[in-house]
Amino acid sequence: MVTPIYLDNNATTAIAPEVFETMLPYLTDFYGNPSSMHRVGAKAATAMKAAREKAAAFLHGRESEIVFTSGGTEGNNAAIRGVLEIDSDKRHIVTSQTEHSSVLELCKYLEKNGYRVTYLGVDDGGQLDLTELADSLTEDTALVTLMVANNETGVLFPIDDIIQIVKPRGIPLHVDAVQAVGKIPVDLRMTEVDLLTLSAHKFHGPKGVGLLYTRRGTRVRPFILGGGQEKGRRSGTENVAGIVGLGRAFDLAEDYLNHGVEMTRRLRNRLEAGILSRIPSARREGVAELRLPNTSCLSFENVEGEAILLLLDEIGICASTGSACTTGALEPSHVLKAMGVPPERAQGSIRFSLSRYTTIAEIERVLEELPPIIFRLGRLSATG
Ligand code: PLP
Repeated sequence: MVTPIYLDNNATTAIAPEVFETMLPYLTDFYGNPSSMHRVGAKAATAMKAAREKAAAFLHGRESEIVFTSGGTEGNNAAIRGVLEIDSDKRHIVTSQTEHSSVLELCKYLEKNGYRVTYLGVDDGGQLDLTELADSLTEDTALVTLMVANNETGVLFPIDDIIQIVKPRGIPLHVDAVQAVGKIPVDLRMTEVDLLTLSAHKFHGPKGVGLLYTRRGTRVRPFILGGGQEKGRRSGTENVAGIVGLGRAFDLAEDYLNHGVEMTRRLRNRLEAGILSRIPSARREGVAELRLPNTSCLSFENVEGEAILLLLDEIGICASTGSACTTGALEPSHVLKAMGVPPERAQGSIRFSLSRYTTIAEIERVLEELPPIIFRLGRLSATG
């Protein structure tokens, strides 16, 4: 099989060879249970401790504030449910219309169970109205949960401004940093969030592992009960190899943020500018600047995003679309809908998300291949 041009890194990333190598002994020789009182278990416990140190150093938090999880979906669920259970008298949650489904589906469930949820809107660039946020907070607000970076458009929410609004009210703030970590600096000394979710597979770590950061003093009721691992905050025998891999992924992310990310931004800009100049109906969705450096969400007129993806896939180019084919009908992405993108355009949207492994040759190939595909599909739909 020809190696694909993989531009779907917001869905998941390739595991870095360095991460894989570091994990391997923990799947073979060092298979101990970190809770065991013997040397095989101790080896696993020591490796987990080292990974926790790396996580704390990367985020500029404390080791005691790190709880390993199975990834972003669990982290978001644990944070939201865990905070709500602390004060069950408070029944209001504030979030946005453009969150990941692991937040939105949980919020919908909570609405059916006596909670009131404010879904903040966004403007046509994907940005929050901070006045709407301030106006939404009440005495009854138990939690504000917002994403740092949007998975579809890459648009960043201004977490520091959000903190200025939420913290003086004494309301806990949880951020979903799943798409941000490893792509932009996330420094918890600067950013006084109470809870933060991240996931290893979005930055060249393994799938099925992540962490929930809980600032010292923030009260959260554990959501998975059992053997009391992670100091009783998340039971279940730990995914030792995964956690070791996450630790190594932090090392590589540090290096990439210092030395590689600007190249990714240049490649993304080249891809985006090239498409916009070659295809007159193309439009970028989401603001230009306050955005992840690796993401480009583009929409086209009179073409189906799914059709573009299939034709790209046939020639070995992997991207993604915002539309989700659920009940046979193509549902435009909830993110683009919230931004007021007309459905015809939203259905013709695709997302390219680059990584540290993306090369200029790959970008040039996409610039060569995409325009004829869009023109062909546009002609078909016009004659259709
Ligand atoms: N939050 C965001 C913003 C995401 O993009 C994703 C994954 O796509 C998740 C949460 C869920 O993460 P995981 O796949 O680790 O459960």
